[in-house]
Amino acid sequence: MENAKDFVIRGNVYHTPHLGAAEAKEYAYIVCIDGKCRGIFEELPKEYRELPKKDYKDALIVPGMVDLHLHAPQFAFRGTGMDSELLTWLKERTFPEEEKYADPDYARLAYGMFALRMRRSATTRAVIFATVHKEATIILMELMESTGLISYVGKVNMDRDAPPALQEKTALISTYDTIDWIDDIRNHHHFKRTYPIITPRFIPCCSNTLLDYLGEVRRLYDLPVQSHLSENPEEMKLVASLMPDAAFYGDGYDRYGLFGGEARTIMAHCIYSPEDEVERMRERGVWIAHCPNSNMNLASGIAPVRRYLDKKMRIGLGSDVAGGQTVSIFRAVTDAVQVSKLYWRYLDHEAEPLTFAEAFYLATRGGGSFFGNVGSFEEGYDFDAVVIDDTWSLHPQPMSVSERVERAFYLGLDRKGLVAKYAAGAKLSLEGDDDE
Ligand SMILES: [Zn+2]
Repeated sequence: MENAKDFVIRGNVYHTPHLGAAEAKEYAYIVCIDGKCRGIFEELPKEYRELPKKDYKDALIVPGMVDLHLHAPQFAFRGTGMDSELLTWLKERTFPEEEKYADPDYARLAYGMFALRMRRSATTRAVIFATVHKEATIILMELMESTGLISYVGKVNMDRDAPPALQEKTALISTYDTIDWIDDIRNHHHFKRTYPIITPRFIPCCSNTLLDYLGEVRRLYDLPVQSHLSENPEEMKLVASLMPDAAFYGDGYDRYGLFGGEARTIMAHCIYSPEDEVERMRERGVWIAHCPNSNMNLASGIAPVRRYLDKKMRIGLGSDVAGGQTVSIFRAVTDAVQVSKLYWRYLDHEAEPLTFAEAFYLATRGGGSFFGNVGSFEEGYDFDAVVIDDTWSLHPQPMSVSERVERAFYLGLDRKGLVAKYAAGAKLSLEGDDDE
């Protein structure tokens, strides 16, 4: 990671400062001062002419991708076990793998592979689930810190309906483990780019007492929250039976202070949220992590993203590895467009499909807002950028910058084409060999 935070880069720039409104500039400069963007310039203003310059020539420059939802321990089994729905998949695939992270050596090996893939992806910001294990979660945080990405990582809490090896013995033990984990980070680690987040897995695995205690811990340490919401019809029935007095699924988090407001909160999926749940999310400013790839793989359904955008709700994209088979947010963008078309065709003719620029916005400025001013090259935004060389990918006709960006996303050029990545003004290393 290079630390010179005052510099200029040049290339073909594309970003979406507003929903649905892309701005594309051929061969323009972007100025970074102290890790923040000073804007995009066709001519470099005088005061910046002495700064170090990196010319990426005919490559594409876009804001770094933001992954609002993924599970690091599930990376190990990505692309397998895709023939079941959520609850079976959790029991048969996910929990047996997550049990292995009780062993720090296994965690180091598996999380090392995950961190390498994240390093070599177009993602600059991520919000990550670990497992219930404190030590393995710290190992994951150390590895994420070394990638230079800026991330939130959560030790998972679950005190019911899990295999004995994963189920924390009582709500109190789960809570004390969480406090130990946070104190350990505060007292013994000096993470600059990796932060803790309160992570009740989801209501089926968390007793009311545990949710109550976690709400207290959250307040005490002033931390954000992540969990899952209204992903699958069977899951929703289960929640209704476990918490019969909750008005709706999200109310089960809200009554314990784990649903937006002072608690900055991400809820993954929100496919079947009833009207009152949507309204509560809107009021409380909950971020929705839309994970179309996972939703297809686990046959969960399609989230009504257009409806959320019309209501001006906070929404970003998640890979949801390993419900999603890839950490690629390029893929999440094109999946979001594609599922929105099926939603429009099959479910609701009023819900206009997403445009590419809208899905791009979700992956950058939409999800980026969870981190602050992130996801755009507007003045004052954190300088997060990825540089994609697509010039080797053949086409006989001329193409605009916008067309080239769209094509790079659809063709998955974030793998072979990624040539540089910056997060908050630091140039990150792409070193390391992986097979993807
Ligand atoms: Zn998930």
